Amino acid sequence: MRNYDVLILGAGAAGMMAAIEAGKRGRRVLVLDHAKAPGEKIRISGGGRCNFTNINTKPDRFISGNPKFPLSALSRYTPHKFIELVRAYGIAFHEKTLGQLFCDGSSAQIVNLLTSEMGKAGAELELGTTIEAVEKTADGFRVTTSAGELTAASLVVATGGKSIPKMGATAFGYKLAEQFGLAVTETRPALVPLTFEPRMLEKLAPLSGIAVDSTVAANGKTFREAMLFTHRGLSGPSILQVSSYWREGDPIIVDLLPDVDVAGGLRQARQNTPKSALQTVLAEVLPKRVAQMIAEEIALPGMIGDFSDKKIAAATEGLTRWTLKPTGSEGYRTAEVTLGGVDTRGLNSTTMEARAVPGLYFIGEVVDVTGWLGGYNFQWAWASGWAAGQVA
Ligand SMILES: Cc1cc2nc3c(=O)[nH]c(=O)nc-3n(C[C@H](O)[C@H](O)[C@H](O)COP(=O)(O)OP(=O)(O)OC[C@H]3O[C@@H](n4cnc5c(N)ncnc54)[C@H](O)[C@@H]3O)c2cc1C
Repeated sequence: MRNYDVLILGAGAAGMMAAIEAGKRGRRVLVLDHAKAPGEKIRISGGGRCNFTNINTKPDRFISGNPKFPLSALSRYTPHKFIELVRAYGIAFHEKTLGQLFCDGSSAQIVNLLTSEMGKAGAELELGTTIEAVEKTADGFRVTTSAGELTAASLVVATGGKSIPKMGATAFGYKLAEQFGLAVTETRPALVPLTFEPRMLEKLAPLSGIAVDSTVAANGKTFREAMLFTHRGLSGPSILQVSSYWREGDPIIVDLLPDVDVAGGLRQARQNTPKSALQTVLAEVLPKRVAQMIAEEIALPGMIGDFSDKKIAAATEGLTRWTLKPTGSEGYRTAEVTLGGVDTRGLNSTTMEARAVPGLYFIGEVVDVTGWLGGYNFQWAWASGWAAGQVA
């Protein structure tokens, strides 16, 4: 039986950060993962360029049953700390939009940074290992794996969420939390495209591939970013963001022309191009096929010159408060993250240690802390991993 000071389950963003920090403290650390390579989600993230943090990191960018829970870790391990590390490795990066930092090259550079730091800190990594059982012992934990039994004083659970099961995501961390008596809040796919009933899909699907700058609102939360029509429904950053707040049965409200004085523009068109149909007028400010689809939705036939003020108001409403009812989402198959997870009430916000089980830690996405789109989820993984790594 091999013995370590710290066993970390999951070689993702959070697990590797915790390993680096614990290793730097001189702890004997082993990271276990059933995958063939570490940091697989980092590798595919940000379209292959890894949106590794966001310089606008603030508490309101995170969703949790206890919004104050992430504060301590996020304020101690800031985006600038990770940026320093990225700079130390000479990795070129750029701000894309809204504070989102991406590698100029490839996300593999971030994985290499982490494995290299782990190596320097003396943390070991074992891949292709199945975890069969975890038990509490008098002085720590015993973990039975496909590679034999291991013991450690501290056990850090960093097995992530349920999204993209085909890449090795499992509900393992939630089950382990329950095994040790910790509560787990409801989990659901988030940062995920939304789907629609066949009648609406018939209208959306032909526009597949077109993106429009829009404001999308659900449940009182509004996001202004691109919205993408797809053959399955709606996607793009504004939809992914709002999906974290949307619930079954709720409508989403889309403003297709967020910067435009729509009523003023329509009145002007009534005067200047009275013989034009609404669809023709809208094609001046929207992609032609989107203009056609939304004009059909608004269903005000005839020439704009004949529109009463009431009709202008109705058209304005149809364009700026286009109300759709998604039937669901694409689910964990394509969701970037899992909302919900290990209930933060059972964890110490400074250390990520389970209050009732000394030596047991939960970090990263498995915890009920979910970031907005834009590098916030990695920042949470780094910060929570760093916090546990100081003490585990
Ligand atoms: C397509 C996609 C793109 C994304 N892009 C971004 C982005 O650009 N910026 C951003 O901030 N966030 C992004 N995210 C979200 C981000 O990847 C995650 O929030 C982050 O990886 C969570 O880190 P983690 O360490 O908690 O979990 P993970 O990175 O998921 O790591 C968990 C590890 O545990 C292992 N594991 C799971 N179950 C077991 C088990 N039973 N036994 C052994 N090992 C197990 C897995 O193999 C994995 O290596 C993206 C997600 C996806 C799916």
